[in-house]
Amino acid sequence: MGIKVDLLRCVGCGACVLVCPVGVLIIEDMKCRVLEGCISCGLCVSRCNWRALSLTDETAPRKEDRN
Ligand code: SF4
Ligand code: SF4
Repeated sequence: MGIKVDLLRCVGCGACVLVCPVGVLIIEDMKCRVLEGCISCGLCVSRCNWRALSLTDETAPRKEDRN
C-alpha cells in the first residue's frame, strides 16, 4: 500500500504535508512527493482539496512494467 500523487492535479499547496502523521510528504518543485515510510492512513487523501492523492495497493514501485 502507498500513496499515489497525480502531478497534474497537485498544486503544491502543502496541506497534505501538514496532516501526515509520519512526515513522509514533502513539497518539491511545487509538487507533492511521497518519501519512504507511508503507513497508508489515508489522512492526506481526504485532506487534499484537489483530489491529487489516492491510496494504491501496489506493493512494488515498478509494477507498471507488467500487464
Ligand atoms: S494537498 Fe493536494 S494539492 Fe496540496 S500539495 Fe498535497 S497533493 Fe498537492
Ligand atoms: S497515507 Fe498517511 S502516512 Fe501515507 S502519506 Fe498520506 S498522511 Fe502520510
